Amino acid sequence: MLEIYNSLTRKSQPFSPLDAKNVRLYVCGMTVYDYCHIGHARVLVVFDVIYRYLTHIYGADHVTYIRNITDIDDKIIARANERGLNITELTEEFITAMNEDARALGVLSPNQEPRATAHMPQIIEMIQALVNKEYAYQAENGDVYYAVAKFEAYGQLSGRQLEDLRAGARVAVDEAKRDPLDFVLWKSAKPDEPHWDSPWGKGRPGWHIECSAMSTHCLGNHFDIHGGGMDLKFPHHENEIAQSCGATGEAFANVWMHNGFVQIDNEKMAKSLGNFFTIREVLERYDPEVLRYFILSSHYRGPLNYSNVHLDNSKNALTTLYTALRGIEIDESLLAPSEYSSRFFAAMDNDFATSEAQAILFELAHEINKLKIDQAMMAARYATELKSLAKLLGLLQRDAEDFLQAGQSGELSADEIEQKIAQRNQARADKDFALSDRIRKELQDAGVVLEDGAGSTSWRRE
Ligand SMILES: [Zn+2]
Repeated sequence: MLEIYNSLTRKSQPFSPLDAKNVRLYVCGMTVYDYCHIGHARVLVVFDVIYRYLTHIYGADHVTYIRNITDIDDKIIARANERGLNITELTEEFITAMNEDARALGVLSPNQEPRATAHMPQIIEMIQALVNKEYAYQAENGDVYYAVAKFEAYGQLSGRQLEDLRAGARVAVDEAKRDPLDFVLWKSAKPDEPHWDSPWGKGRPGWHIECSAMSTHCLGNHFDIHGGGMDLKFPHHENEIAQSCGATGEAFANVWMHNGFVQIDNEKMAKSLGNFFTIREVLERYDPEVLRYFILSSHYRGPLNYSNVHLDNSKNALTTLYTALRGIEIDESLLAPSEYSSRFFAAMDNDFATSEAQAILFELAHEINKLKIDQAMMAARYATELKSLAKLLGLLQRDAEDFLQAGQSGELSADEIEQKIAQRNQARADKDFALSDRIRKELQDAGVVLEDGAGSTSWRRE
């Protein structure tokens, strides 16, 4: 039985969906004003695996996964102005880029990717409900704020007390809020800013209200899982709870899931520290599947420490796994789950322990390598099992040769390598061993490893 660590109750609990025919998951997605970095890669991959595993348990037609797109906010307006674009031109460019990155990482599309600018009626409706119930008020400057003190459970998710929060809050002199903890639901438009009409005048929504309005619109008032990065727990998710529960009078998400931070060489990743990588920059040097494997090699709730050594280790790990699959015909009809599957599922059921699940893939690869020698049928059976389990992690779905022979620009192409192998085979047939050794050395220097088998030579990149 699946157990999930719930940030709200601070413990692991058996997962029991409100409706097993429609398991509902909402994840806070990107604010699209720049390329995605590896922190975004982690959110994408972690929740992709959670989504895959939920569909494995409940069936593909019985899980609804929503990941929103924030396509209006201060950073978007500022960046569009800098570049002389309107906000739609800017956000379309980075939504396309985000989708390319996600596809490269093997991330499945969510069922819907709602955009804030396409949900203004729902956002305004929710703010109106909050105003009607006196959870919200319009201040003198025209902005609409949420009155935090009115919501009794405020601070429950992040474990904070109102008094402590208030002591730490700084009050600006021109502040129009009644309480320094109050947060904005609707910002009245400054001159030349994109804006929408509302009962409180022209303006645009605050960030927190978007997620409450879109999750409710797509999944209903009360749903199963709400996820996002740990940095969103406070104030974003705390505010979402206050808004949604305040507006609907019902419970909101039952389970809150948060993935940990990405560190670079044990330091916090920050543009100001110069150790900030976009997904694109990493993919210039590593195969996307290597990045995906690396992300899943740590438990999603802990920190993920990015370093070249760890990426190289992940590449070696995938090389080992694909080498075991190499040359074996996968045959779905042979699939017979063994104790490896039971242990794999036990790891995943334990709050998605993906690194333990990866370790079981290694045991399977080891078994396959032993059986390959003289029990082809059994080897094929386990290879089929390996591939089917790895699919739940979004790994090992390519042809083994495709991974092992994938090259980077500047390296010998696969055609050039095949030609050299043919020349070497000819030299060996001619008993010109000096030439065949020279070609082998030449390929070795170019990072190509040859493996001579019975009657044929296979190769892979180092
Ligand atoms: Zn959100």
